[in-house]
Amino acid sequence: GGDFNQKIDYVFKVVLIGDSAVGKSQLLARFARNEFSLESKATIGVEFQTKTLVIDHKTVKAQIWDTAGQERYRAVTSAYYRGAVGAMLVYDISKRQSFDHMARWLEELRGHADKNIIIMLIGNKCDLGTLRAVPTEDAQEFAERENLYFMETSALEATNVESAFMTILTEIYRTVS
Ligand code: GDP
Ligand code: MG
Repeated sequence: GGDFNQKIDYVFKVVLIGDSAVGKSQLLARFARNEFSLESKATIGVEFQTKTLVIDHKTVKAQIWDTAGQERYRAVTSAYYRGAVGAMLVYDISKRQSFDHMARWLEELRGHADKNIIIMLIGNKCDLGTLRAVPTEDAQEFAERENLYFMETSALEATNVESAFMTILTEIYRTVS
């Protein structure tokens, strides 16, 4: 058993973008390893993590890229976006500014990425409902206007994390298959 010699039908590169501290690395840790840390450090070294899953009887290797402290505007290099077929634009529902910055992250993404890239807007930390600074409707409206998928998640409570990644990966699969 195991995945030795497993035949991979597709490799999908998906990039995580958004302001620092919105929870990108913890979303990835939750999805790839079902882990979460409250004392998450800035990502060092590791550029991406992979998870192999099955969609429509095909073996898909999701290669999810995480920024390593390059969240300052325009610090993310074009190599990061190269070959990406999906992107998750992440903000923190308790930090209005992180949502207000989504427009320029999107602009930067569209400037670098393939025009057919599948994009999902993610409002993370939905467990912090009492501190909410971004109404769900505001994000929904932005997502509709910009043609993005949208979901609210909590990496801490594992809410919608699997679902968000599966949605974007399935949509990518549908566009390439
Ligand atoms: P990044 O800079 O975007 O990669 O953010 P991190 O993943 O490093 O997370 C920043 C901080 O937010 C860390 O202290 C995390 O533990 C915390 N965090 C991440 N996701 C959540 C979440 O869903 N809920 C809560 N309450 N905290 C979170
Ligand atoms: Mg990080």
